[in-house]
Amino acid sequence: MHFIRPRRAGISLRSTFGNRHSPFYHPVMSLKIWIDGKFYDKEDAKISVYDHGLLYGDGVFEGIRVYRGKIFECDAHLRRLFDSARGIRLTPPRTPQQFRAAMEETIKINNFSDCYIRLVLTRGVGYLGLNPNKCPNPSVIIIADTIELYPAEMYEKGMYIITSSVVRTHPNSLSPRLKSLNYLNNILAKIEAADAGVPEAVMLNQDGNVAECTGDNIFIVRNGQIQTPTTADGILEGVTRQVMIDLCRELSIPCIEKSLQRHDLYISDECFLTGTAAEVIPVTRIDGRPVGNGIPGSLTRKLIAAFHKLVRGEAKN
Ligand code: PMP
Repeated sequence: MHFIRPRRAGISLRSTFGNRHSPFYHPVMSLKIWIDGKFYDKEDAKISVYDHGLLYGDGVFEGIRVYRGKIFECDAHLRRLFDSARGIRLTPPRTPQQFRAAMEETIKINNFSDCYIRLVLTRGVGYLGLNPNKCPNPSVIIIADTIELYPAEMYEKGMYIITSSVVRTHPNSLSPRLKSLNYLNNILAKIEAADAGVPEAVMLNQDGNVAECTGDNIFIVRNGQIQTPTTADGILEGVTRQVMIDLCRELSIPCIEKSLQRHDLYISDECFLTGTAAEVIPVTRIDGRPVGNGIPGSLTRKLIAAFHKLVRGEAKN
């Protein structure tokens, strides 16, 4: 670990330079990464090339936010992690309470108050064949870091997206409800978005129904009603999606889960995406077509403000 000297006597090195939200923050202090119960400097945080998480994408993960020092929706994320692990017949080597404690320790040692946590559970070290039974010890990795997926301007003005030609994985192949380490299906759609010059793509399922974006759930507004695809249409049951559904109920905004087609996107009045990393972001153009009148809609802005109030205790917009 490298140390830097405070420039003025009386300034605490930890509270000034070490606090990642301090204007004086200096990134010379290496991030500490938690791997299987031990902390490593970021440069030394490594796993084996024989880990099946790397060789086969054999593992599951969660992306989690910390707001004002508290892990946001911790129980929901841990429940989903354990469900995903169960879905691939992987027994987590720790209890939910131990996962929570390890995440809290990682936040604390890195002196974060707001951050993003990547919690990864891999099948562990095995041999070069597929057989997971030859991987006796699953591995757990916890990374706490900052994340900014999209420029601030997009949250104000809205994002352009496309519908992708890449069909979302069939639920009976690898269920999109399972947050596995294999994101190639999503990555292929993301590449298509980049080729089209937009940051996100919405994927349709095998029946042509709207599923979700590559890393976010999708909502539309139609005649004052919020609509979002059902779980049956092959989506990750997003934690942020559920928070939005609950916020709609609290604000008495009608919200339903139903199958949507591409046509529903094209005739929607408003559209927005939700995800842990992206939070809530308006969509103002889909496949080159303006959504509503081409600017973030009033219900979208109302929900974004409610979300900010919930997580950061501040009223925005
Ligand atoms: N769908 C996919 C494919 C995702 O990867 C994610 C998370 N990045 C989401 C939806 C949103 O889920 P959450 O709100 O739990 O982050």
